[in-house]
Amino acid sequence: PYDVLVVGGGPAGASAAIYAARKGIRTGIVAERFGGQILDTASIENFISVKHTEGPKLAASLEEHVKEYNVDVMNLQRAKRLEKKDFIEIELENGAVLKSKTVILSTGARWRNVGVPGENEFKNKGVAYCPHCDGPLFAGKHVAVIGGGNSGIEAAIDLAGIVKHVTVLEFNPELKADSVLQDRLNSLPNVTVLKNVQTTEITGTDKVNGISYVERDTGAAQHIELAGVFVQIGLVPNTDWLAETVERNRIGEIIVDNHGSTNIPGVFAAGDCTNNPYKQIIISMGSGANAALGSFDYLIRN
Ligand code: FAD
Repeated sequence: PYDVLVVGGGPAGASAAIYAARKGIRTGIVAERFGGQILDTASIENFISVKHTEGPKLAASLEEHVKEYNVDVMNLQRAKRLEKKDFIEIELENGAVLKSKTVILSTGARWRNVGVPGENEFKNKGVAYCPHCDGPLFAGKHVAVIGGGNSGIEAAIDLAGIVKHVTVLEFNPELKADSVLQDRLNSLPNVTVLKNVQTTEITGTDKVNGISYVERDTGAAQHIELAGVFVQIGLVPNTDWLAETVERNRIGEIIVDNHGSTNIPGVFAAGDCTNNPYKQIIISMGSGANAALGSFDYLIRN
C-alpha cells in the first residue's frame, strides 16, 4: 500500500504529493487530468513571485516538479469510490483498486457555465469566472456580472472599484445575496442591477463586445455593449463520487479542519474541493502542503 495517495492532480494535489514524497514515504497521485483548472487558464498574474505566467506553462512546471521525486503518477485515471477498510481503498474507473494508509482528496471544482452562445468561444477573451484573477484586466472598461447571489454581488462590488461600470444580470425577480451586500452594492455609483432578465448570448468578434438578454416580464430583447462578462452562478466541487463517505457541506465541499483532516481518520482534503472559502492557486498549493503535513503527522502517530 501507499503511505499517501493523492487523488487529484491540480495545484493542491501536486503540492501535497511533493510535500509527502519529501518525507521519504511511499506516495502516489491519481489525476483525471494532471494540471487541473489551470490548464484552462490563460494569463496568471497573482501567483506570488511569478509576475506573469500562463496556465499550461504552470501545469508543465507542476508536473516537472512532481517528477523530480519518487512519486507514482497515474494520469488520466478517474477515482470512482472511496472505502475505509484496513487501508483506505480508492477504486478507479478502470476497475483497479489502490490501497493507502492515508488519502488526500484534491479533486478541485468547476465553475457552473451559463450555457449561452459565446460563453465557450470567448473564454479568456472577455468571459471570465474569477474577479480576483481577471478583474484588473478590465480596468476602466464596462463589464457585466451574471448572477445575483453572494458570489455575484461580491464580484460586482469588487469589480466596481476597478472597472468603469458594472451591470449585474439576475434571472430571478430579486437578488439572493445577503442584504448587507445588496446595501453596499446599491451605495455604489457605477453599478446597474437588472433583475428578472435572462442572458441569451455573449457577443463578440475576436473578443467580447456585448451581452444580449431578454426582460422576462415584457419579453423585450436588449443588448449592452461591454468588454467583459463575469459568470458567477456557482462553483461546483468535484465530490459527487464520494457518495455517502466523506462529510461535506450543503454545496458539496469537503469539510476539513486546520490540519486538512476530514471526518474519516486518515482521509485528508485540500484545495477547491474543500470548504476553504477562497479558491486560488496559491491557496490550493498551501492547503495541499498543509494536508500532506497533516497526513504525515497522522502516519507517525498511528
Ligand atoms: P483543480 O485545479 O480543479 O484540480 C483538480 C484535479 O483533480 C484535476 O487534476 C482533476 O482532473 C482531478 N480530478 C477531479 N475529479 C477526479 C476524480 N474523480 N478522480 C481523479 N482525479 C480527479 N486562480 C488563481 O490563483 N489565479 C488565476 O489567475 C486564476 N485564473 C483562473 C482562470 C480560470 C478560467 C479558472 C477556471 C480558474 C482560475 N483560477 C485562478 C482558480 C484556480 O485555477 C484554482 O483555484 C486551482 O486550480 C484549484 O486547484 P485544485 O488543485 O484545488 O483543483
